[in-house]
Amino acid sequence: MTVKYKEPAPIKDHLNPLESMMERFSVAAEILGLDESTYNALKSPEKSVAVSLPVTMDNGKIEVFEGYRVVHSAKLGPSKGGIRYANSVHIDEVKALAAWMTWKCAIVGIPYGGAKGGIKCDPRKMSQGELERLTRAYTVAMADVFGPEKDIPAPDMGTNPQIMAWIMDEYSKLKGVASPAVVTGKPLVLGGSLGRVEATGRGVMVTARSAMGKLKMNPSKVKAAVQGFGNVGSISAKLLELQGVKIVAISDVSGGYFNDKGIDVEKAIEYVEKNGGTLEGFTEADMISNEELLTLDVEVLVPAALEDQITLKNADKIKAKLIVEGANGPTAANADAILNDKGIMVIPDILANAGGVTVSYFEWVQNRLGYFWTEERVNRRADRIMKQAFEQVFNTSQKYDVNMRIAAYVNAIDKVASTKRIRGSF
Ligand code: NAD
Repeated sequence: MTVKYKEPAPIKDHLNPLESMMERFSVAAEILGLDESTYNALKSPEKSVAVSLPVTMDNGKIEVFEGYRVVHSAKLGPSKGGIRYANSVHIDEVKALAAWMTWKCAIVGIPYGGAKGGIKCDPRKMSQGELERLTRAYTVAMADVFGPEKDIPAPDMGTNPQIMAWIMDEYSKLKGVASPAVVTGKPLVLGGSLGRVEATGRGVMVTARSAMGKLKMNPSKVKAAVQGFGNVGSISAKLLELQGVKIVAISDVSGGYFNDKGIDVEKAIEYVEKNGGTLEGFTEADMISNEELLTLDVEVLVPAALEDQITLKNADKIKAKLIVEGANGPTAANADAILNDKGIMVIPDILANAGGVTVSYFEWVQNRLGYFWTEERVNRRADRIMKQAFEQVFNTSQKYDVNMRIAAYVNAIDKVASTKRIRGSF
C-alpha cells in the first residue's frame, strides 16, 4: 500500500536544508508510489557520527571543535561527500547534504552512496598550523568511518586540496599503507586528477548550455549573475563567459559587484588571488548587495555560495529565466512553487553541481588503477555524463509533467530504491 506523504503543511517562513530536502523527497516519493517502509528507510541516514576535537591553538590554549560525518546511504557503493569547515555547520545541514550526495551520485550514475562531513569552525581565522592539527584530529576520530572502499571525503566550502592532503597523509599513517583513494580533490602531486578543480563549475556550464538549448537561448545574447566567487562560482563564471555569456554580476562574502557592460572574469579571478581570496575593493564594477544580485535583470542566475538564498522573501522578485544551482540547497523548498509559477527553469543542485563528484569518481578510479588520464579525457567523459544526466532528468520532467527538481529526485530515488530492493535490504 502506498501512502500519501505530501501533507498540506502550513507554509513556513523558514525551512532548514533538511526540511527543504524532505519536502522534495516526499513529492517525488508520492509520484513513484513508494511504500511506507521504503520511504522511511531512504529518509534516514545509515550512520551519523559526532566527535569533539581538542586542538592546541597557536596561543597555547586548547579549543574543542565539533565535527560530524553522516553517511546517508552506502547501497550504491562506498559513500562519497565533501567536508565543510564553517561556523554555520549543524548536524541537520550535514544530514541534508549527505542525502543530496546520495541523490546526486544516483543521477549521474556513478557507483557511490552519499555522505557529508563538517567541522564547526571559521577556517579564515585559523593559521595553517591550527587547520592542520584540526584536520588530523578529525581524520583520527573518523579513521573507522573513512576508507577507500567505505567512505571517501572530498573538499567543500572552507576546505581545499591541502586539507585533503593532510587527510590522506594521516589516514595512510594510521593504516600503515599508502591510501590515496581514501580522499579526492587532492593536489596533483599526491594523486589528484587533472580537471578536478574545475569540474563542478564545468558541470554548471555544461548543464546551463543544455538548458539554454531547450529554452532556445543564444548564449551570446545572455546576461548572467553569479553569486559566490569561490571554486564553483568563479569557474562557472569563467566557463560561461567562454561560451559567450556576459557575466554582469559576481559576488562573495564581501558583497556584490555589478557591471552592465560585462565583468572580465579572468581579471576578477586574478584580483581575488592577489587580494587574500576576496573581491573586496574590486573596482571594475559597482558595488551591490548579495540580495540585489539575485534579483537583477538577467537571463541566467547561478547561485554558487550557500544554502537558503532564494526564499519566500525574494523568489517573486527574481527576473532570470534559468537558475543553475551551483551551490547545494540555494533555494528553500517553500520558494519552489513561486519559481514554478513564474515559469523559471531551475537546474537543481543535485544535477547542476554533480560534475564535482563525477570527476572525484574519476580521481578514485585513477588512484586505484595507478594510471592517470589526460585533462582532455577527464573533461570529455565528465561532459558526456553531465549531458546524459541532464537529458534523463529533462525526459522525466516531461513524462510526469513536473519541474526539473522533482524530476531529478524521481530519477535518483527510483534508482536507490530499486538497488536496495535488488540487494534485499528492505
Ligand atoms: P568556496 O569556499 O570555494 O567558495 C564559497 C564562496 O561563497 C566564496 O566566494 C565566499 O566568499 C562566498 N560566500 C560566503 N558567504 C557568502 C554570502 N553570505 N553571500 C555571498 N557569497 C558568500 O566554496 P565552493 O567549493 O565554491 O562551494 C560553494 C557551494 O557549492 C557550496 O554550497 C558547496 O556545497 C557547493 N558545491 C561545491 C562543490 C565543489 O566541488 N567545490 C561541489 C558541489 C557543490
